[in-house]
Amino acid sequence: MLDTTIAGSLPKPEWLAPPNTLWAPWRLEGRSLQERKRDAVLLALREQEQAGIDIVADGEQTRGHFVWGLVDQLDGIDFSRMITIGIRADRYKATVPTVTGPVRRRGSIHGEDVRWARANTKQRLKLTMPGPMTIVDTIHDAHYGSRERLAMDLARLINEEARELEALGLDVLQLDEPAFNVYMDEVRDWGVAALDRAVEGLRCRTAVHICYGYGIKANTDWKQTLGGEWRQYEQTFPLLAGSRIGGVSLEWAGSRVPIALIGLLGNKDVLVGAVDVATDRVETPEEVAAVIRAAMQHVPPTRIFPCTNCGMVPLSRAVARAKLQALGAGAALVRRELAS
Ligand code: ZN
Repeated sequence: MLDTTIAGSLPKPEWLAPPNTLWAPWRLEGRSLQERKRDAVLLALREQEQAGIDIVADGEQTRGHFVWGLVDQLDGIDFSRMITIGIRADRYKATVPTVTGPVRRRGSIHGEDVRWARANTKQRLKLTMPGPMTIVDTIHDAHYGSRERLAMDLARLINEEARELEALGLDVLQLDEPAFNVYMDEVRDWGVAALDRAVEGLRCRTAVHICYGYGIKANTDWKQTLGGEWRQYEQTFPLLAGSRIGGVSLEWAGSRVPIALIGLLGNKDVLVGAVDVATDRVETPEEVAAVIRAAMQHVPPTRIFPCTNCGMVPLSRAVARAKLQALGAGAALVRRELAS
């Protein structure tokens, strides 16, 4: 009960990639890079275990960016045709590759990542992949002419990949859909259908992560425009309650999201954001516990998974480590209360 987990990424060690940077370039290449990535995954797993995190992840140590980790393994996407576009409804600019043909996997994308992590932890293992809508929003389409059709093809290949990862011992698959907080009409029209296609037939636990983005300036500026209450989830949660997805990872700590909105998720798992990734200030275990208690007013503790708000890749390793420990300790506090 109250099993803890992380939204996805952790900071990379300085010997792997420059710190405090999104889209950071690798320090090495070839076999040396592969070996350092694997070492970084081991550290990420140990740090989560030491903090008492129950469902651990590889911290996305092997990926340059949470979307690129998948996209650069696909046929039909041309990385020699990079173009700068506005993404997330033009909230920021990104230089992205072009879709020039049908998107297909060239082979396994994360099989080696899951094998390595699975062999090196006894904890339950979670892997994150970008969701179809967020991928569509982070590449330039010159082939499909329809965001929906491109999303459905991506959902199909995510599903193929997920079935293989599940067979390798993956316990939880999470699809990251920050775009679900931006394109509310598309979420209704095809976003949830694409998500359902991506998790079709899976037996492992599944979740979708929907947040207000990393703690970078473009996002904190955007949040200032969202008013006194952030109610985007109010539109998507009822749709997700009727979907195949097993749970929803949401941003809550330090946000203006009314916690009562988690009551709209029906019987889904709720991965409650109890650690704010937009500040270096480290939460106390008591603050984490207060978030969990607030969530328990709306959802039974058996369905609550205390979590971080979003990925921690832009933070320093020391801050991220301390936040993990606060998360583990805060959940333990509430577990003790429930047991007494
Ligand atoms: Zn996020």
